[in-house]
Amino acid sequence: MTRRIILVPFDHLSFDHGAMREADPAVDIIVVVESARMTTGRPWHPQRLFFMVSAARHFAAEARERGFETHYIQAPTTLDGLREVRAMVGELPIVCAEPSSFRQLAALSAYGVEFVPNDFFLTSRGDFALWAKTQKSFVMENFYRAQRIRLNILIEDGKPAGGRWNFDADNRLPPPRNYVWPGHSSAERDEIDAEVQAQFGIDANPTWSTTRTGALRQLATFIDTHLAGFGPYEDAVARDEWAMHHSLLSPYLNVGLLHPREVVSAALDAYRRGAAPIQSVEAFVRQVIGWREYINGMYWFLGDDYRHLNELGAGRPLLPAFTDSSATEMNCVSSTVADIEQRAWVHHIPRLMILSNLALISGTSPQEFLDWMREQFVDAADWVMVPNVIGMATHADGGVLMTKPYAGGGAYLNRMTEYCGSCRFDPKKRVGDDACPMTTLYWDFLDRHRDRFARNHRMFQQLAGLRKLSDLDEVRARAAEVLDGLSAGTI
Ligand SMILES: Cc1cc2nc3c(=O)[nH]c(=O)nc-3n(C[C@H](O)[C@H](O)[C@H](O)COP(=O)(O)OP(=O)(O)OC[C@H]3O[C@@H](n4cnc5c(N)ncnc54)[C@H](O)[C@@H]3O)c2cc1C
Repeated sequence: MTRRIILVPFDHLSFDHGAMREADPAVDIIVVVESARMTTGRPWHPQRLFFMVSAARHFAAEARERGFETHYIQAPTTLDGLREVRAMVGELPIVCAEPSSFRQLAALSAYGVEFVPNDFFLTSRGDFALWAKTQKSFVMENFYRAQRIRLNILIEDGKPAGGRWNFDADNRLPPPRNYVWPGHSSAERDEIDAEVQAQFGIDANPTWSTTRTGALRQLATFIDTHLAGFGPYEDAVARDEWAMHHSLLSPYLNVGLLHPREVVSAALDAYRRGAAPIQSVEAFVRQVIGWREYINGMYWFLGDDYRHLNELGAGRPLLPAFTDSSATEMNCVSSTVADIEQRAWVHHIPRLMILSNLALISGTSPQEFLDWMREQFVDAADWVMVPNVIGMATHADGGVLMTKPYAGGGAYLNRMTEYCGSCRFDPKKRVGDDACPMTTLYWDFLDRHRDRFARNHRMFQQLAGLRKLSDLDEVRARAAEVLDGLSAGTI
């Protein structure tokens, strides 16, 4: 048999998927490259850096234990690392699973790397394109229903389990009062973790495990403790409980330590055992076989230029409030950024309705916001950040992904989060020194883009609300003050 070099990128850390699926210690040489671009090329969040590097080093250590000749190379770039390995072992063919970003795909293709299909998702890029090409608009819900049928998930007698495709009407509850959140488990650390912490001078937060064992433990904790409550509170934001019933599985899924199939199987098994109700299991399954697959599919379908879109012409430089939790008095933003500083993670609603909403309604450059989010989140990757930020979060694609922008004012935040009570700003006010900046900017945003949104029937209600405002001139004046204050880090 021909000897091969198998390149395992930092987000393909699996012995059962990707190029490792068919690997044989008798002939295959495993290479993991820790490139300087990956470690020092951007101002990565330390918790993210720790997680990525330590998980990769654990993988390489396990590959050695499994009998593979394994080279963990530190080099300026991945290609430099591959050249170094070839200088040691000879000009062997190099095999890798299809990389998960346009940039890496181009670089490795140009170097002659052979690809095997990327099976870290449930939907191949080709199959997704077949679906997308038949659609007039790319509505996630339509993709999701097709996925349920194709994968035969939560389908009973040809119909959706529980009689409905979607239980959002039963979910979407505000944060519960006097509720005891069960909490989440802590990671166990070993010498590899200690070595990475020492090398990069990072005090690792106990949240993120760096091994498959730890990832499986988190999956079990989620299924046993949180899945049943996932649905009702998935859109709420509690002040004193950072993870609520969210799964905390995204980092493990995105680096290959968990596969979406096993995560969904575990949730379906809990449903069959009667351990979790349909509205929670369906809500979770939708995130994994719906949203996650849709976002990856759209990344590849829309192409590499999609990241540059800026249809709303938003050009404000990144606000200081994003990079420093003390640079704003807005309780929701400051608390969210403080959580990110600690763990490199917040759940979906702070990402969408607090951070992205602020970026959207303040007219922050989508590309600067994208760069910041990409660097800060433990689960960030190009394929997942680009569509989420350019499409879902900032409407910079003009509506390719989402038919309307996710813009909201203080009233939404007051209903769904616990931040407004102790904030110095009043969510009901749109003018005056104590007006909630989100409320002021929400109306100002609609006003700035009223001509564009007038063509969108889904924006009819919001624009009708705008037309009823009798103090629009004052709102505009206050918005200008708020934007100056946010840019200066004084609001
Ligand atoms: C602006 C913005 C940026 C985001 N960036 C990322 C990112 O870099 N990496 C990332 O994995 N998710 C991203 N998301 C999606 C989502 O916020 C996270 O997947 C989720 O918060 C991770 O926490 P969890 O594992 O507890 O998720 P749960 O709430 O428990 O959901 C379960 C799983 O569903 C998947 N999922 C749900 N929504 C999405 C989505 N929109 N896109 C992709 N997967 C989804 C994730 O794999 C997640 O682990 C982003 C969302 C927004 C609005």
